[in-house]
Parts: sequence; C-alpha cells; structure tokens
Amino acid sequence: MTDPILPPLFDHTSSNKSLANDESIVAQMRTLIDNLKTHNYAYYVLDNPILEDSEYDQLRLSLLELEEAYPDLVQPDSPINQVGDVPLSAFTQVQHDIPMLSLGNVFEYDDLREFMRRVNDRLSDAQQNPEYEVELKLDGLAVSVKYEHGKFVQAVTRGDGRVGEDITQNAKTIRNLPLWIAAASDIPLLEVRGEVLIPKAGFERLNRLAEENGDKTFANPRNAAAGSLRQLDPSVAASRPLAFYAYSINQGLPENIKTQSAALTWLKNIGFTVSAVAVVENPRAAQAYYESVIETRDDLPFEIDGTVIKVNNLALQQQLGFLSREPRWATAYKFPAQTVMTRLHTIEWQVGRTGQLTPVGKLNPVKVGGVTVSNVTLHNFGEIQRLDVRAGDMVSVHRAGDVIPKVTRVWHEQRPEDSEPVTLPSTCPICDSPVVLPEEEALARCTGGLFCPAQQQEALIHFVSRRAMDIDGLGASWLISFFNHGLVKTVADIYQLHQHTDEMVNFEKLGEKSVQNIISAIEVSKHTTLARFIYALGIRGVGEGTARNLAQQFGDLDSLMAADIDALLQTPDVGAITAELAYEFFRAPHNIEVITALREAGVHWDKVEQLASEGLPLDGQTWVITGALDSMARDEAKAKLQALGAKVSGSISAKTTALLAGDKAGSKLTKAEKLGVKIVGEEEFLALVGE
Ligand code: NAD
Repeated sequence: MTDPILPPLFDHTSSNKSLANDESIVAQMRTLIDNLKTHNYAYYVLDNPILEDSEYDQLRLSLLELEEAYPDLVQPDSPINQVGDVPLSAFTQVQHDIPMLSLGNVFEYDDLREFMRRVNDRLSDAQQNPEYEVELKLDGLAVSVKYEHGKFVQAVTRGDGRVGEDITQNAKTIRNLPLWIAAASDIPLLEVRGEVLIPKAGFERLNRLAEENGDKTFANPRNAAAGSLRQLDPSVAASRPLAFYAYSINQGLPENIKTQSAALTWLKNIGFTVSAVAVVENPRAAQAYYESVIETRDDLPFEIDGTVIKVNNLALQQQLGFLSREPRWATAYKFPAQTVMTRLHTIEWQVGRTGQLTPVGKLNPVKVGGVTVSNVTLHNFGEIQRLDVRAGDMVSVHRAGDVIPKVTRVWHEQRPEDSEPVTLPSTCPICDSPVVLPEEEALARCTGGLFCPAQQQEALIHFVSRRAMDIDGLGASWLISFFNHGLVKTVADIYQLHQHTDEMVNFEKLGEKSVQNIISAIEVSKHTTLARFIYALGIRGVGEGTARNLAQQFGDLDSLMAADIDALLQTPDVGAITAELAYEFFRAPHNIEVITALREAGVHWDKVEQLASEGLPLDGQTWVITGALDSMARDEAKAKLQALGAKVSGSISAKTTALLAGDKAGSKLTKAEKLGVKIVGEEEFLALVGE
C-alpha cells in the first residue's frame, strides 16, 4: 500500500521460500538488521528518528517473519530480541537490579484473544481465564526511580534493558515526581517504574519555540521527553514540562498488595501520578475498554499509542515470567498508526468558490488512523514554503480522530534528485485568469472573479443579492438551476435571460407568471447606482462601504477601472491588499468582457455627486503615513486626513506635503528628512484632526 521507500529486498510478502537460497535470505536479513540498527540508534540514543514508527515496525516485522521462516539462519546480532539501545556514555551507566523489558504487542482483537489463550496455556485448570488489568499505553520513555526509606535516591532510563543511564539530577526537576514519601519511610528500597512524558500542550509549545529560534523540532512527544530527560544540563530538563506516570512496583512491594490494580492504587495514595485503569474479566471487555479509549484519546492531555493489558494477579505474573524481550503476562494493544509515511506525488491547485487557490497534495494512498488517505490539503503557498515540500517527496501524514489529515513532516533526506521547488501558478488552473498573492496575505487568488467557472455560482448569487443589484424574485435556487441548465454562466448572462423564457417556463414549478416577474425584476435592476454596481462585481475585500468610497473617489467606472494602485490607495478604507486585488480584477480581460456586456445590456447608474474637497482645511495637500500610531490604526488616520480634504499617498516624493510618523518609522522617515518634507508627530496630528 505504501510507496516502496525501501529496496525490494525488504518486500517480505513476495518471498518465495522454495526458490530462495540461504545466501539471499541471509543477505535480506543482513540488510534489515543494518537498517534496524541505524534506526534504533537514531531513535533510542539520539532521540531523533529518521523514519516514522509505522515504517520501522514494518521493517522489524519483515525481519521477524524471515527469522520465523528460517530459524537456522537467524543472525547472532539480530536486534529482534533487543530492548532499546546502548545507553549514552555521557551519563553514568547503571545496571538494573531487575531487567527493564519492552512489551509484546497486538493490533487486533483476534491477536488479543490469541495472547490470552497463550496465557491460559501456561496456567493450571484452576487458574484459567484470569482477571486482567488494562492501562493506557503512555507514549514516553520508561524510567526506574528508587527510594531509600522514602527518600528519592536515583532515576535510571531503560537503556538496553540491562544497563541504563543515571538521570537522577534531571529527574529531580520533574514536578510531579515525589522526592520524599513519608508512607515509604520504613521500606528500605522501593523501586517504582513508570513513563516520563511531555503533555501535548507542552510539546506543541516546545516545538513552536524551537521553530521560532530556528532550532530542530522534535518528531513526537516521546522523542521530546527522551531528549529533555537526557540533557546534560539539568536546568534544560527543568525548563521542559516533563511528567512521571507510575505503572509498577518492582522492589519493596508491600506484602498486602496482591494485584497490579491494588499496586497502582497504593502508588496513587502515596503521591505518584497514575493514569486510568480498568479491570476486565475477558477479551470482550478488554476490547470494549480499548474502543472506549480510542474514542476519548484526543481529549487526554498526553499522547497514548494503545492500551496495555496485564494479568492482574501479581503471583500469576511471577509464575508466567518473561520471554527474552517481554513479559508473558502483559501485552500492548496498539492503536492503528496516526502518523504514516507515504509519497506525495503531485501538488494540484484547487480553486475555491471565492477564488482562493488551495494546494492539495496527492498521495500514494495510505492507511492513517484506520482510514485510507489519498489527498492532503497544504493550505496555502506559505505553508508549502514553511514545510519545504515538493512533488515527489516522502512525507509523514498525521490524522487524529475526525481531524483532517495533514503533512507533519517532509523527509528531505529522501528527496528525489530531480525534484523541483513548487511555484505558485501565475494563472488560474480553471479559467486562466492571472493569479495574485497580495503581500501580507497568505492566500493566492484567481482574479477572474466574474468569469472563473469555479467562482461563478458564488459571483451570481452575490450579484443578484439585495444589497448588490437587488434582483427581486431571482432567488439563489433559481439562479443555480439556470446555471446548471446552462442558461447563465456569467452575471452578464442574467440580462439575456429574456431570450430564454420558453426554457424557463418548462422548468418544474416555474409558471409563466413567475418567469415574467423575474424578467421584469431583471429589467428594473438595470438602473442602479455606481456604488451598488461596484459592490455587485464581488471584488475581494470590496464590501458595501468600500464600494461607496470607490464610487465617491473616482466618480465613474472608467476612472476606477483605469486607476493604478497608488490612486486606489487614496480611497478611504482601501489598504494595500484590497488595492492590489481591485487593480488585478480590472486587469483580467474576462472581467472587462463581462463588465462591457453588462453595460451593453443596459446596466447604468446616475452620475455620482462627488463631495467637493474645496474649502476643506487640507485641500491640495498630499500626506503619507508611516510607523505605528498609538491612538488609532493607520487606515483610521488616513480616513481622518481625507475627511479634511488631504490626499493620502503610499510613497514620499518632493510633492509630499507632510509625513505623519508614528512609532518605528523606517525608510520613509529617512527619505522625508532628506527631501525636507514636513514631519508631523502623533500629538500634532491629533490636534489637527481635532482629537
Ligand atoms: P513500546 O514502546 O512499544 O512498549 C514498551 C514500553 O511501553 C515500555 O518500555 C514502557 O516504556 C511503555 N509503557 C507505556 N505505558 C505503559 C504501561 N501502562 N505499562 C507498562 N509499560 C508501559 O516498546 P519499545 O521497545 O520501547 O519501542 C518500540 C517502539 O519504538 C515501536 O513503536 C517502534 O516503532 C518505535 N521505534 C521507532 C524507531 C524509528 O526509527 N522510528 C526506532 C526504534 C523504535
């Protein structure tokens, strides 16, 4: 299902036993072993995996299957039975009194039943079908903590299971780890094991901070917890939101405690944090609990990757004992992977109903969180740049609960050599109109507003609406129906509907009278105002108020259509983004065609009464605004100056009358000083506008 990111050698599914010779099997095993060793080191020692867990698990499974099929060929250094990896030499190494093992795992109900069957096989008739205790499988790293007569003395990582790293100083900074336990003061040695983790919120904060500082981000909370705990400087660990969740007593168990669930209750009572537990009688109940945890896992403050099912009776645990790498009395029941790697083979640009261009990554289909995913939104061009993703890249896709899948990582080290950086299309993939990406805006937009098929329905509905052309009687549903029957495509076609009355009458429930009403409403709408017409065009960022201001500013449509960006910027409440969008809108040939067709069909308006600026105090003056003002936004200041008759321009020249300079004024201030332009501070400005 996933893209073959590994050489064909790894494809265990195609292994053909009878044909395979020993040499080729050993070669396959060796390649897998070398790969697994590399990944174990990156993951356990460097806390910096170079592959998602799901892919690592596939590699491990490939080796396991080969070893099961060819037990005679198992290599002496096979990591299959290995726990973790060698401890970091920077820390003092400590031998565990009792080995710290891993857990076996199951992924499906049948495997869980099989696990319980194997447990039964090892128990006497009287002991059959024991009670199980189910815990959350916390996604952190295992740590053993020791107390002598109640006093915390040592914390050690799991390491390779036999020897771990002494991280006592760092563990002392974990806020919820008790350093003194009065209730254990008469226990000479208490060893508790548990998971150190970083809650989701803390993990996100940590990665945000790392991103801001240009540091490397952590792949997941588990690596973040491991990396934080294994810092040589305890003050770094102290700054990380680490937490310890206890899950077993390995030495110093009080005699009256006979079950795992009682052990956890005791740990809780003496001051440890423990996670939720349930006691179940049979596999069905364990399954029900597992399913209920899946439902609620997104609400938990920390990541879990499954449940852990343990024989509850501690004496039975002892009796069942251990396999080389895992206990026989417990197993992890893992959730389907929420983050999976696959290849993103192309990036397509989709045009939304409002003209925004959204890049969509087309994936080699892959199962994530139990659902097959083949598309993933990349949101906008900025996100493509942030991720530095290209067509052909291997990516990690994450899907949690009902949340839409997203790309969480791009594996740049696996990038194909011939890949090209993504560029923003210069024209709309649907209508070929120019695309703009206004500065300060994340979204690229198609400028073919009136013409672009992807935007036409939206444009039509907006055009006839009450505050626009107000075509009473031509409701959105009829309009869409006409659109779907091919009677109207652009808004100009509305004024040709009178040629299609026969077809309209034939539509269900639309009698002759209704058709006549629609046609006359269309006729009436031809007489409008320039402001309504501008608003009806549906230019992004041009609401009713801005449309009124544009009508006032330019007085007629031709001047508005001819205006350059600086001229548009003179209009009250038009900022840089709207100016650019309006400018591009009137440059798109298709939009001009539609506007011409509307005028030819008879759409017209009365002459605009422009308010004279003559006699106003700042008439004839040109102002420029720069920097941040304390008392108001720049747009507001601009409107106030314009109300007094001034023009407000975006750039300084010798013709500029004055520069209103707020805080952090930059190059414009320097230029004004150079040209000897008058500089006005905020206070003087407020006095001028009477505030
Ligand atoms: P594991 O994490 O799957 O399970 C064993 C561990 O579960 C224990 O050591 C303990 O730390 C933890 N645990 C959490 N909650 C527990 C609870 N309530 N009771 C008991 N134990 C609990 O096993 P592992 O051997 O630590 O690591 C295997 C995992 O690491 C796999 O998911 C594998 O994909 C991943 N891995 C990934 C890479 C990579 O390159 N991406 C490399 C190596 C390992």
